[in-house]
Amino acid sequence: MTFQTFDLDPLILDALRELGYENATPVQEKAIPVILEGKDLIALAETGSGKTAACAIPVCNKVDPNLKHIQALIVVPTRELALQYATETQKIGRFKEVKAFALFGGEDMDMQRAKLKGGVQVLVATPGRLIDFVFSRSIDLSKVETLVLDEADQMLGMGFYEDLEFIINCLIHDHQTLLFSATMPKQIKQIAKNHMKDPLELTLISNLPTPENLKHQLTFCSNPGQKREELLWLLKELNPVQCLIFANSRREVEALYRDLKSKLSAVDFLHGGLDQSLRSVITNKFHRGKIRFLVATDIAARGLDFSNVTHVVNYHFPFEKETYTHRSGRTGRSGRDGVCVTLVTRRELSKVGELFKMLKREPEWLKKPPSGH
Ligand code: AMP
Repeated sequence: MTFQTFDLDPLILDALRELGYENATPVQEKAIPVILEGKDLIALAETGSGKTAACAIPVCNKVDPNLKHIQALIVVPTRELALQYATETQKIGRFKEVKAFALFGGEDMDMQRAKLKGGVQVLVATPGRLIDFVFSRSIDLSKVETLVLDEADQMLGMGFYEDLEFIINCLIHDHQTLLFSATMPKQIKQIAKNHMKDPLELTLISNLPTPENLKHQLTFCSNPGQKREELLWLLKELNPVQCLIFANSRREVEALYRDLKSKLSAVDFLHGGLDQSLRSVITNKFHRGKIRFLVATDIAARGLDFSNVTHVVNYHFPFEKETYTHRSGRTGRSGRDGVCVTLVTRRELSKVGELFKMLKREPEWLKKPPSGH
């Protein structure tokens, strides 16, 4: 289905054309008309499905850029997601001159206040900083027409339930509420029941445990001391366009980074111990393809959309199966091919069977599999 089918402003259609979005993804096809109509919506959708644009397109279509106040409020769990959402919105609303802004902690509040004063129609915010702004009366939410809760299950998992309740209760006037989530825990149902008006529910999650275009491979390191060497061999062999390398601790991320930097170019690292502005710079550089190899902790495993990541390497076997899913999901996005390679030592061999059972795939070993596998 092309975007021409929807009743959209020609300026939005121009921006979509420029972004190279020709056809609506299934999430967009279903969600855009509902949102344009002003109905409340609960959408079970994952990152990679085009859910950001599914919301940003109708939101940009509706807002009036001549009015300076916030007309759409989008609440997201992390700073990185806030930036990603605001950037996507800004691109879609570019010709219509819609102003989107990402508000999150760790940045100067006066600068953020000044930015809001300058006129922002779409505000993308993390709960903590948003509440700080409400308390200090730095923000006017009285004219918000659309409230979006994105990655709602992740926000609840991070302990934001009360913050979300507080934010929702700040909007006492009539408005539209849209809730996007990958799962539907009880608390989300509760929020929907308490605060939404007859919401339409869309389930847009595929039943497959992993996309068909995503390959899962393993490489065996008989001696853990050889892991560094194995990783280097692997990175040269895979020849990725962009690669995310996951390690289980900040210390290990830095050590790996130092090692790789001396042997490869365009290497960087990301973990939660870095200053927020530096994290934003690195995420941004990775988005723009300035970094080819990004060594990271699981901070990079959820939600972020790095469309050109061709390979994910698990230098360390993830502790949880769910973590594996999130990490591997950073590649093979939007129908593109992707490969996730995991380095396995003897100690982890017992976990391989369980992991591949969850993936509903046969283990695929690069080089020689260990005996009995
Ligand atoms: P999301 O699920 O929002 O994280 O989006 C995943 C990726 O799909 C992003 O890189 C978007 O830029 C891209 N995308 C979203 N909608 C479309 C579309 N209709 N056609 C092509 N790419 C899209």
